[in-house]
Amino acid sequence: MHDYQNGGSVSSTSTTVEQDTPIDITTFNHDAISFDPKTSKYWFYEKSADAFPGQAFGLQVDQILYHTKSQYQDILIFKSSSFGNVLVLNGIIQCTEKDEFAYQELITHVPIMSHPSPKKVLVIGGGDCGVIRELIKHVEDQTVESITMVEIDDMVIKLSTKYLPQMAKYHNHPKLNLIIDDGFKFLRETKLKFDVIITDSSDPEGPAEEFFQVNYFKLLRNALNHHGIVIMQSSENIWLNLKYLKNLIKKCKYVFPNVKFCQCYMPSYTSGQLGLLVATTNDSFNLTKPLRVFDRKKESQLFKYYNQLVHQSSFILPTWAQDYLEIDEESI
Ligand code: SAM
Repeated sequence: MHDYQNGGSVSSTSTTVEQDTPIDITTFNHDAISFDPKTSKYWFYEKSADAFPGQAFGLQVDQILYHTKSQYQDILIFKSSSFGNVLVLNGIIQCTEKDEFAYQELITHVPIMSHPSPKKVLVIGGGDCGVIRELIKHVEDQTVESITMVEIDDMVIKLSTKYLPQMAKYHNHPKLNLIIDDGFKFLRETKLKFDVIITDSSDPEGPAEEFFQVNYFKLLRNALNHHGIVIMQSSENIWLNLKYLKNLIKKCKYVFPNVKFCQCYMPSYTSGQLGLLVATTNDSFNLTKPLRVFDRKKESQLFKYYNQLVHQSSFILPTWAQDYLEIDEESI
């Protein structure tokens, strides 16, 4: 494994991003990048025998922008020919400039618009800073008062400010308390309480492994104010692994009485969508319908993906998936 930094070599714990010198794609070596002799083009393929057996999502690569192995993960950033710049961690796409807004908006605005007064918000992970960009919209209308973000790998933040500038533009905002630490450790130690907690983590393979366990849900519950709402990316969708999703929902239900599953359209995630779990200790909240809404004009000013109908429709599943997720475990 080589550490490339715009053509130069960096140490694995480096936290600096240096000046551009192009990386020569013809000598670049990465498991996920290959040359297609038929088209004479380079392609990125997202392959995982565990997470996406038997399939791979591919993007044509125009240019390798950055590659390194940080203290926590393999970080690759490339310019694609059709999805803009792409951030990849441990071989898995985290976001592309073309469609990132779908995920960022749904994971942020579903809990924020479902909460009567979301003053204090915690983000776990979120290094590309897309969720922060969305939360700042609610800081500007004075609904959200403070944001804490706990990201384990500051390289992701630094690289995002450089290569994903439309996402990572508020990492220095005065209302943001940015903590570089393990989110799990932070939750174990903190005495702070939050109204909304957003787990914008990477997938279970790597430093985010612990986020998909009952213990993590317990830590989330302990860090919530009364009426608090949590949301997390499930790392799965209904086409990939419905059984895993069912188990994840079950684990979440050990801890939260009110758990719902929604999904967003994301062409750059394998199967074209990603599922999110939303949960609260308040049994009377209807998470599937926003408690607070904006009028149509304001929605168009603020959002590209989210609106009050998208909020509701994202919880509606096709029949087979809905049935499977509702059946008792014993009868499967
Ligand atoms: N939207 C993305 C997705 O689902 O593919 C998530 C993007 S965001 C870049 C994920 C972030 O979670 C990464 O920056 C990663 O460093 C961070 N992360 C992973 N494990 C973490 C941990 N234990 N504590 C805090 N942050 C963590």
